[in-house]
Amino acid sequence: MSIAIAIDGPAGAGKSTIARLAAKELGYIYVDTGALYRAIGLAASRRGYTAENKTEIIALLDSIKVELAFNDRQEQIVLLDGEDVSGFIRTPEISMMASAVSAIPEVRAFLLDLQRNMAHTNNVIMDGRDIGTVVLPDAKIKIFLSASPECRARRRYDELIEKGMDVKYEDILNDVIARDYADSHREIAPLKPADEAIIVDTSGEDLETSVNKLMTIMRENI
Ligand code: C5P
Repeated sequence: MSIAIAIDGPAGAGKSTIARLAAKELGYIYVDTGALYRAIGLAASRRGYTAENKTEIIALLDSIKVELAFNDRQEQIVLLDGEDVSGFIRTPEISMMASAVSAIPEVRAFLLDLQRNMAHTNNVIMDGRDIGTVVLPDAKIKIFLSASPECRARRRYDELIEKGMDVKYEDILNDVIARDYADSHREIAPLKPADEAIIVDTSGEDLETSVNKLMTIMRENI
């Protein structure tokens, strides 16, 4: 039987960085489910759709293929109709589009089997918003990772600036707050800790401290 570790939490809590490092340490596969929603957001945005085009976005699902794969460096990449779109999905625009498409039940259903299949065949650390509550309710360990909106916005801002993007801290903070609200208030699979989740707050911590904290929790509970 494969082992699954679910890490849920809001944008910028450090889920992906921590999960990636922890997966390496444990020899598990890291699955970034946000990348799947982002790929659908990108597909919709490339066709000129906005959050208002719900019907068109649902129809789009019949004609696109979204996959997770690994590149030569064993990093996870996301493929949209066979094209590696990993480099296009991290912009603020696609973040908002991902959040919008993720509130559509048909989009969530479209991605459910793909996510579950990865966990059936591999030991995984999967990060997202509804992994412990919906995707993998039987996950061995469920962690809900959070941090203050200001702290999360600052991390995301530093990350984007480092990539050479021209962004403003205030805009990122507003996006974080708007996305938190949308992700926790949607009707389907809202962002919330699973009943048995271990809640970890990383506000004010550096990466090493947070990784160590999570590694201890994982080792104690596997
Ligand atoms: O994790 P990331 O910020 O890349 O996710 C992008 C968006 O995808 C989130 O704001 C959220 O709306 C959506 N998402 C989701 N369920 C997941 C992962 C991401 O609804 N399991």
